[in-house]
Amino acid sequence: MRITTSIFAVTFVAGLATVNFFNHFYAEKALQNDAEQLLYQFHDALLEAHEILDSLPTPENFQCSKTDIQKLAMLAFEHPAVRLIGVLHGDKQDCASEEIHFDLANYHEQVLKPVKHKLMDKVALATVSHGDKHVDLLMVRSHGDSRYFASINPFMVNYLTEFVCMNCLEYEFVIGSLPKLEFRGRAMEEKSFIEYSASRFEESIRVELNLKGTEAFYNYYKELSWASTVLFSVLFASIISIFAYKLLTIRQSLDRIIKDALKFKEFTPFYQPIVNSSTGEIVGVEMLARWVHKDGTVVPPYQFIPFAEDSGLIIAITEQLIQKTVIDIKSLGWDNTDKFVSINIVPEHLKDDQLYQLIMQLTKEYQIPATSLSLEITERMKIDDLEEARNRLEAFYQQGITLKLDDAGTGYGGFSYIQELGISTLKIDKMFIDTIARDDIKSSVLESIISFAKSSGLGMIAEGVEEQHQVDYLKQHNVFLIQGYIYAKPMPIAELKQWIDARGNKESLR
Ligand code: C2E
Ligand code: CA
Ligand code: CA
Repeated sequence: MRITTSIFAVTFVAGLATVNFFNHFYAEKALQNDAEQLLYQFHDALLEAHEILDSLPTPENFQCSKTDIQKLAMLAFEHPAVRLIGVLHGDKQDCASEEIHFDLANYHEQVLKPVKHKLMDKVALATVSHGDKHVDLLMVRSHGDSRYFASINPFMVNYLTEFVCMNCLEYEFVIGSLPKLEFRGRAMEEKSFIEYSASRFEESIRVELNLKGTEAFYNYYKELSWASTVLFSVLFASIISIFAYKLLTIRQSLDRIIKDALKFKEFTPFYQPIVNSSTGEIVGVEMLARWVHKDGTVVPPYQFIPFAEDSGLIIAITEQLIQKTVIDIKSLGWDNTDKFVSINIVPEHLKDDQLYQLIMQLTKEYQIPATSLSLEITERMKIDDLEEARNRLEAFYQQGITLKLDDAGTGYGGFSYIQELGISTLKIDKMFIDTIARDDIKSSVLESIISFAKSSGLGMIAEGVEEQHQVDYLKQHNVFLIQGYIYAKPMPIAELKQWIDARGNKESLR
């Protein structure tokens, strides 16, 4: 549980970091969306104003009667984008949708001024300032000496600035009129950190929005995504933790199942013959572990050996296998021959004398020579203390038990194991045997392994030999001992006996 909690914590933090990184893109996208929405709202407001002004009768005929004014008020009310609608006449009989004190003189003066921004035929834009703060944007429709005007609501920029900060956003609308009309918000005080531009052109009105924000403005968007960040990280960490928890419990239960299998002695030796190809004689076998369930199903080593090696259970498994193996040696009648059974050991076995004591005790008990056993150690596993291993091996050598180097040429032990451990035989891995008669660079490795073994006086067993041409090639290179499917697969003791018997008959027939 503690491990799972730690995994949760680590993945949670990793999740936060990752998502925080992606929040950068999220913030940019969110800001762009808001900017575009702003642009569309502003553009729509202009279109709406244009439509309203178009719907009114010619301004000369608008007489500012009470019903006329009510009509304007109604229109303004119905269109939130337009705040005020009014009419200005050359002779100043002006009126607007809002009846309450409204000084139209200001409008009158400025809207009639020549600096207007022509938008379309008879339609123009103008700005009217009230003091230095408030500026109204007007759309004007002229007819002779009279004009309608609609004041565009000072858009929704405020909704952007209000929740962020007053001086950290700068926006500018550029309206495609003649001359261009630029309508900008408050200038930002800091340097801009992020910028965005978008434009829209529809129904002859072109509007462009340029947005600049300070870091604080940008960060606001980044922080918006914090909730999702945390949520994502919790989710991410939970999934990984559940997965890890499952994996851990599987391992724990595998540990328990193997211990049960040990109790019920389910680990069973299978034997694969090693044959001298020049005489056809079986010189020995390699003992390979199988886990045979009560119902007879056979579990291959790759499903439990790696775990057993990791967890240290391999020691107990090997013990169980050797106990059965010595009985099998006896029943084969090999106690008076020079045939051997190879046993796979791991570096762990060379850290104390437990294995040695067991072999001594069993060979004595069953009256078999120690030389009928042989050891195999793989080059793929690291031996931490070569000197200690060598010292442990010395005791075996004293008894005539030799050591073979398994998977020779594939691991990192290689040369140092051969030199320091007193190896007597190399087991050439299937990987190299497979290169025979193939255009493969590894085939030159096979040749050099063979010539190295010869010059060093090492014996050789070729493993994983499946085809006759491989046997022939090896024979030509003086490698005679063959272990492979070409002769037999690993099999239980009863089958091995039958195999040997059948072969013996064949041989005697020859
Ligand atoms: P290994 O020690 O290299 O054993 C040789 C493997 O090659 C065996 O696989 C054998 O069945 C297979 N083999 C032999 N000839 C041929 C062939 O012609 N073609 C093919 N395709 N394969 C062939 P197995 O029995 O499945 O064992 C796999 C590995 O499990 C062994 O490789 C060994 O590393 C490990 N193992 C098996 N039993 C034990 C054990 O008791 N203790 C330890 N520590 N490891 C073991
Ligand atoms: Ca082996
Ligand atoms: Ca091997």
